[in-house]
Amino acid sequence: MPRRSEDCQGASLHLFERLIGLDEQPFRRGMAPPQQVRLDELERFRSLLENISDVIFVVDMADGTLVDATGAVQAVVGLASRDILGRKIDELLLARTARDLFSDACIPDSGNGPAVFHSGLRHADGTIRPVEIKASRAVFGGQCYGVLVASDTTERMRAEERLRESEIRYRTVADHTYDMECWQDPQGKLLYVSPSSERITGYPPERFLRNAGFLESLILPDDRDAWALSMRCPGAGPAQETDFRIRRRDGSLRWVTQVCRGVTAEGRDLGLRFSLRDVTERRRVEEQLRHQALHDPLTGLANRVLCLDRIRQAMRRAARREGYCYCVVFMDLDGFRVVNQSLGHETGDALLVEVARRLRRCVRHLDTLSRFGSDEFVLVLEELDYPGQSVRAVKRVREALARPLRMNGREVRLTASYGIVSVPRTESRPEEILQHANIAMHRAKDKGRDRLAVFTAGMLAQAVGRLDLENDLRRALGAREFVAHFQPLVGLADGRVRGFEALARWAHPQRGLIPPAEFIPLAEETGLIHELGMQVLDGAVRAMSAWLRAGLCSPDAFMSVNLSACQFSHRELVRAILDSLESHGLHPGALNLEITESAIMEDPAAAIDKLTRLKEHGIRLSVDDFGTGYSSMSYLKRFPLDHLKIDLSFVRTIDTDTESLEIVKAIVSLAHSLRLSVVGEGVERAAQGDILRGLGCEFGQGYHFSRPLGRADAEAYLATHGAGADSGA
Ligand code: C2E
Ligand code: CA
Ligand code: CA
Repeated sequence: MPRRSEDCQGASLHLFERLIGLDEQPFRRGMAPPQQVRLDELERFRSLLENISDVIFVVDMADGTLVDATGAVQAVVGLASRDILGRKIDELLLARTARDLFSDACIPDSGNGPAVFHSGLRHADGTIRPVEIKASRAVFGGQCYGVLVASDTTERMRAEERLRESEIRYRTVADHTYDMECWQDPQGKLLYVSPSSERITGYPPERFLRNAGFLESLILPDDRDAWALSMRCPGAGPAQETDFRIRRRDGSLRWVTQVCRGVTAEGRDLGLRFSLRDVTERRRVEEQLRHQALHDPLTGLANRVLCLDRIRQAMRRAARREGYCYCVVFMDLDGFRVVNQSLGHETGDALLVEVARRLRRCVRHLDTLSRFGSDEFVLVLEELDYPGQSVRAVKRVREALARPLRMNGREVRLTASYGIVSVPRTESRPEEILQHANIAMHRAKDKGRDRLAVFTAGMLAQAVGRLDLENDLRRALGAREFVAHFQPLVGLADGRVRGFEALARWAHPQRGLIPPAEFIPLAEETGLIHELGMQVLDGAVRAMSAWLRAGLCSPDAFMSVNLSACQFSHRELVRAILDSLESHGLHPGALNLEITESAIMEDPAAAIDKLTRLKEHGIRLSVDDFGTGYSSMSYLKRFPLDHLKIDLSFVRTIDTDTESLEIVKAIVSLAHSLRLSVVGEGVERAAQGDILRGLGCEFGQGYHFSRPLGRADAEAYLATHGAGADSGA
């Protein structure tokens, strides 16, 4: 057995010098290395061996004595190679393996390739170093040696351990996730499904792992395409979210959101990772919010937003399908405000709910019923056979509403006004169609209760005109363009001016003076009449105050100002009038307010209250246009009135028509019996004035005396017919 020569620099060189030939024949024959192996090559080879991290042991197979080892043994076993020579391999290698090592079965002849096994080497510090050993046999010099190449696997084992730990950690996380976590390989096979699948779908993970198509089978058919698409191209970017519905094991429907992401590692496709979360509750809340956003809370009908959307859809259908016919009906209950005020808001609400219930029965499933605040309802009727069908639908609604209903023990009969847009123009916007229906509804309302109007282009032109006028009115109020003109009231006995009636004029910058008939009705409708009326009243009070102070009028003269019915309902009316009087220093007795009979009769209780309060302040009151309205004598008696104005339609024919004459006679005697003085207005001829004077009528007013005059002209008129003129005459 060759022994290590002390003069050799490396411990193992002696043996390896002979090994490098890789041809064991020379050794077997006990010959020196072949001549062609030069010393420097040996040197190079030796240093190569010394520098590898694996340890190469050479063991005498006869008794297990270590005969050589490479330098790396220092790092693995903690001993220098010279210190281990002569020891038994059992001392270093774990026992069982050492014994096995020498069995022929374990170490094949070299040429069969090494036997590979894992074992441990005892380190000098007492620890065991895990090693992988490649063992082979070599025979040289007639002796059998074992060549063991041991690689320290400590690091690898640690890495594996770390990997295993992290896998356990990941699994623990995945297994306990709230969401259903899945991993699918590139071939579509599921590699992992977390146990939360049970909670979300009712099925355990195995069900999914066994059958690749099982998840898809749970998805509702309508949602499958979207799901499949999201699985096909999850993209490398941010995770892709898809919502779909699944049928759970218990049969219930659930909404889930799936987040899907492609997984790659070092450029390799590892398939898809996706997780499913139950979002049913979130969906339900969203649905509820959406419903709230699109429906009227009181009746549950669609609201304006949804209605507009349905009109938009109908318009699209009409644009696509030739002859597609639909219509929009705007409906407004008649007199609902009165019901609301007299029976209370709660009853009003109950009534609206009942209306909604009845309407529902009149329309088909594909129609849209909506409510736009207060008492406005809009019907979108679709799939009509011909435009006129909408009118039949409205008739059905009318009949349904007509059935009397009891509210708070009272019987209420409902009617509504209907505006129909029966052939909506395709180029319109939904808002426009709605507006057209609204215009038609207003036209129906103008005609009285329970009427229907179909929208026409003419209505639009008129409505646009009205709108322009309304805007112009608002502007004019700001610019204080409303002024009073003054028409004298003449004492019929002596022909002297006893007062004036202030008549509103709109001093329009472009159109000149505009008569009241053109703007008073709109001002009344829009509520602008209050401000407008106060501008006129203020101008009249100011003028009267100045004329009295200048002595142009007799001290008992008065200024008449007209009041509309709706001005009565204004809470600040009395206050505003008193303020104006005070600011211009006019005593209340010099102001007379003219109110028509119909204004009084609209709400007699409120009228009595307001008139009484005005009267208490000393303001005079007249009933205007007498003879044209209700002429309820019993009411007339209860009002604190001063004058009664006979309507000009009677005065105009008093000298030609005996019937008119008789009526005027009756009115004058009635007025006098109520201690009211009488004004005959519309006196155009001297004969008419004479007849009135003959009947005992106190005052006359009309073109015969004077047309309404601007302030300067009125002052000139006073100079010749007023208090000053009288004293000078
Ligand atoms: P009214 O109160 O009956 O006013 C009398 C109308 O008869 C006035 O028309 C007047 O100019 C006109 N008139 C006077 N004498 C004659 C005559 O001899 N022959 C004819 N054919 N007509 C005569 P005007 O100024 O156009 O006023 C129309 C209506 O407008 C008034 O009718 C009144 O109801 C309303 N009005 C005028 N100013 C105001 C106002 O400041 N406030 C309110 N609320 N209404 C007003
Ligand atoms: Ca009047
Ligand atoms: Ca009048």
